[in-house]
Amino acid sequence: MRNKLAEVLSDKGIKDINVLKAIKKIPRHLFLDSGFEDHAYQDKAFPIGADQTISQPYTVAFQTELLRIKPNNKILEIGTGSGYQTAVLLNLKAKVYTIERQLELFKKTKLFFGKMGYRPKKIIFGDGYKGLPEEAPFDGIIVTAGAPEVPKALMSQLKVGGRLVIPVGIDEQVMTLFVRKSGKEFEKKELGSFRFVPLLEDKN
Ligand code: SAH
Repeated sequence: MRNKLAEVLSDKGIKDINVLKAIKKIPRHLFLDSGFEDHAYQDKAFPIGADQTISQPYTVAFQTELLRIKPNNKILEIGTGSGYQTAVLLNLKAKVYTIERQLELFKKTKLFFGKMGYRPKKIIFGDGYKGLPEEAPFDGIIVTAGAPEVPKALMSQLKVGGRLVIPVGIDEQVMTLFVRKSGKEFEKKELGSFRFVPLLEDKN
């Protein structure tokens, strides 16, 4: 079923062989709540509790491909959720720092990583809007929730040459790629519309 899913994603335009290999490898059914396992290898998003969803495999593959990960790249993920995207990043041999703001999901996914032997460098309960200044700069930053605006902190935590992949918008989001060209210059590309749960800012 995983091979089939990888084929579907390849037909939809995903080209990166290593991303497709990761999709073939990672047991997505284990990231879903019981009752949804049968649907795990359809190219669909599903509920994971706390009103959140595991992203559609195509979206995961599309965002990951845009990061152009090389082994040992330092990657910051905002929105750990089920951990599926995290597992894809780890499979590509990235050093992953991941932040989740829903306590329930944070606890559940942290335990799950332990059981599965997935080892992100850090799993943080907190507000991804602020990024992770103490570990910056990053080769790549991936935001897996819809951001009403691009958090400035994330832009500033990219290495020169680093890539930020972020869905921007409120009801619908435009997948946006920023590549840092120098201290002040960023190249911006818009790559189609998607739908995500909202990136929520903590008001304290
Ligand atoms: N990558 C996840 C996608 C989960 S949906 C997966 O593959 O399962 C997006 C996640 O972003 C949700 O879990 C939500 O709680 C989280 N989120 C929303 N706002 C956030 C914020 N400000 N900081 C960190 N996580 C946030």
